[in-house]
Amino acid sequence: MRAVTLIDGELQYDAGYAPCEAPDGLVEVKVLKAGICETDLQLKQGYMGFSGVLGHEFVGVAQSGRFAEQRVVGEINCVCGRCDFCRRDVPTHCEHRTVIGILSHDGAFADSLFVPEQNLHVVPDHLSTEHAVFTEPVAAACRILEQTHLNSNHSVVVLGDGRLGNLCAQVIATTQADVLVVGKHSWKLQQLQELGIQTMLLSEFQPRSKADFVVDCTGSPTGFPLSLQTVKPCGTVILKTTVAAEQSLHLAPVVINEVQVIGSRCGPFAPALQMIADKIVQVESLITAEYPLDQAIQAFRHAEQADTLKVLLHVSDSV
Ligand SMILES: [Zn+2]
Ligand SMILES: [Zn+2]
Repeated sequence: MRAVTLIDGELQYDAGYAPCEAPDGLVEVKVLKAGICETDLQLKQGYMGFSGVLGHEFVGVAQSGRFAEQRVVGEINCVCGRCDFCRRDVPTHCEHRTVIGILSHDGAFADSLFVPEQNLHVVPDHLSTEHAVFTEPVAAACRILEQTHLNSNHSVVVLGDGRLGNLCAQVIATTQADVLVVGKHSWKLQQLQELGIQTMLLSEFQPRSKADFVVDCTGSPTGFPLSLQTVKPCGTVILKTTVAAEQSLHLAPVVINEVQVIGSRCGPFAPALQMIADKIVQVESLITAEYPLDQAIQAFRHAEQADTLKVLLHVSDSV
């Protein structure tokens, strides 16, 4: 089958990739579309040391089981169901997990992939495939709502106007919290303004230790120090992006200001699908370009440019 692989740090399009044997109990999902995410770009730079087929944001058609022949999206953590974390209902931290397209599990930049049935969610008929591709990143944004109790009394600064910053801001805005997005690109900020979200250019932003919550979506080593200057004493910094590069941190402000730092990764798919279907979260304007799977290398190059939001891979019209 066709697949986009990362092997020894090298991204390749392989028209004759030999998929692994169907693992027991997993459902084959034939891929319709997939999205290139910041994590894919980080993986390419060596994050997690991943080797295999990339891709964890996808819509496909289930080939067997309960959801056979239906369009589905899939949660990316494939878990054991038996370890301590699984039993404590935090399966995203399963000790034995594989993660689709990220950790020991071939991903979705391919004609098909294998997903545990319990990870699948049916895409509502009226929701288009290219919008449903955003379920995974919107779910990641929804994780913030599980970890905090944001409401209209809170001020939130989102650092970063990229794909994830945009979605986090939209999801946080549903809590009626006061949201400000700080970014480097006026056209990306403009899109947020059109959704009624306040924005500011980084060059004009003065961090004043006033925000109750700061969400770092910069994907940059500069994001955390800026977060610490922006959050108020006893406030909370939520780290949303992984940075492959090592960084040296000055942690004294965390102690002096008693700042809580929360790491935040994968979130719930059901509310994310609903928010996209109900257009509470707008994703259409985030699509910068779409490439056929066999042009994945060009698609990655495009996704790496600063003037893009989401680049999609078109795998198949129907299966
Ligand atoms: Zn992603
Ligand atoms: Zn487990």
